[in-house]
Amino acid sequence: MTNRIELPPELAAAIKAQAGAAQPRECCGLLEGVWEGDVARVLALYPARNLAEAADRFEIAPQDHIAAQKAARANGHVLIGCYHSHPGGRAEPSQTDREDAGQDDFLWLIAAGETLAAFVYLDGRFAAAELAVCAPQPL
Ligand SMILES: [Zn+2]
Repeated sequence: MTNRIELPPELAAAIKAQAGAAQPRECCGLLEGVWEGDVARVLALYPARNLAEAADRFEIAPQDHIAAQKAARANGHVLIGCYHSHPGGRAEPSQTDREDAGQDDFLWLIAAGETLAAFVYLDGRFAAAELAVCAPQPL
């Protein structure tokens, strides 16, 4: 089963812009959206402070996580995933990402250069998902 992730173009551009601005460190944030069967629709981004000390890590500031959760709930949605960048790296989960991931059915967007890739974490592993950058469809 391959999941399909729908991401509006302006949000894809925003992630790439944040990734560029954060260099040489990683940017990070959370994704508000909805799952409809195998399709996840990303509806909003919540950029977060990266508390990690190492440049090749990210750790979302807990206060930012809580604020994003509240904001998503206020919109009648939930946080369905996170995003971060790999400056100079590849758009795929790193060893650290594998160690830090824990929440099942959580979507991960990873930006590296002009590449943006989507993965879904489930049962202890990341599965690549189809990423469709497209205008949001009516819910
Ligand atoms: Zn990573």
